[in-house]
Amino acid sequence: MTDRYVVIGNPVAHSSSPRIHALFAQLTGEDIHYGSILAPRDAFTHVASEFLRGGGKGANVTLPFKEEAFALSDEVSSRAKTARAVNTLSFDGSVLRGDNTDGCGLTRDLGQNLGFGIRNRRVLLLGAGGAARGVLVPILDEQPASLTIANRSVQKAHALLADLPSVDPRIASACGYGELAGASFDLVINATSAGLTEAALPLPKGLFRPDSLAYDMMYGRETSFMRQARADGAGRTTDGLGMLVEQAAESFFIWRGRRPPTGPVLSALRPA
Ligand code: NDP
Repeated sequence: MTDRYVVIGNPVAHSSSPRIHALFAQLTGEDIHYGSILAPRDAFTHVASEFLRGGGKGANVTLPFKEEAFALSDEVSSRAKTARAVNTLSFDGSVLRGDNTDGCGLTRDLGQNLGFGIRNRRVLLLGAGGAARGVLVPILDEQPASLTIANRSVQKAHALLADLPSVDPRIASACGYGELAGASFDLVINATSAGLTEAALPLPKGLFRPDSLAYDMMYGRETSFMRQARADGAGRTTDGLGMLVEQAAESFFIWRGRRPPTGPVLSALRPA
């Protein structure tokens, strides 16, 4: 019997996860089917439970449900626990396990695909939702010179910081967009969902330098954040396709015990 997996989100039609996992399955010879489910905003638990009760083996969870997936899990990995967000659910028929592969997806894309080392760099993380939560500790593990979290709702950025197990206030801090005036960063990661509506973030001028990397977790096209960063002087910009493929590879490994190659999948997905 073919094992079934899905990605659950709202919106979800834009997700490349079904294509990525189909390619992983082809490359590894694993017999899986991977689909997608659009869950109503107030019905994630119902939708996920129905799928799993119906024989589904696992699910990826995308916005805005990662925190609900965390609450739904019977057991969570330590990285999901720190993030308080789950993007990978695995079900063995009795226990629902939650994990979070976003952080290692991001750091692997930066380190292995883009050749960008975080160590000793000044990092700005924009956003304080599930995606930001997932990448915070993996970024800190790479020992940046500093990590600033900025969010539209400032209290959410502070809450994210407060949830970290132990953090040196000289390294990590939280603020609103207005307080970024006068600062510049080596790496600016957009973990907001503003790009879904093409909304421009209220970023002050001077945030980027010619050797800065502007990294948008959104993927699939040149995003408004990438355009904004380039106009403000960022030397390098990228979308989050590499992160998506790397975090998917980690989910696939959790489910199937096999690590798929990511290079050919990234090449297949990138527009020529
Ligand atoms: P959430 O809904 O959990 O969080 C959304 C965040 O975006 C919040 O911080 C919110 O701020 C902020 N935001 C939304 N609209 C605006 C706006 N107009 N101006 C400023 N801030 C805004 O989403 P996720 O954290 O799950 O996902 C965020 C993004 O990351 C999505 O685009 C998602 O596709 C992408 N992503 C990509 C991955 C990849 O593998 N490439 C993996 C995970 C996510 P506030 O708190 O003030 O509402």
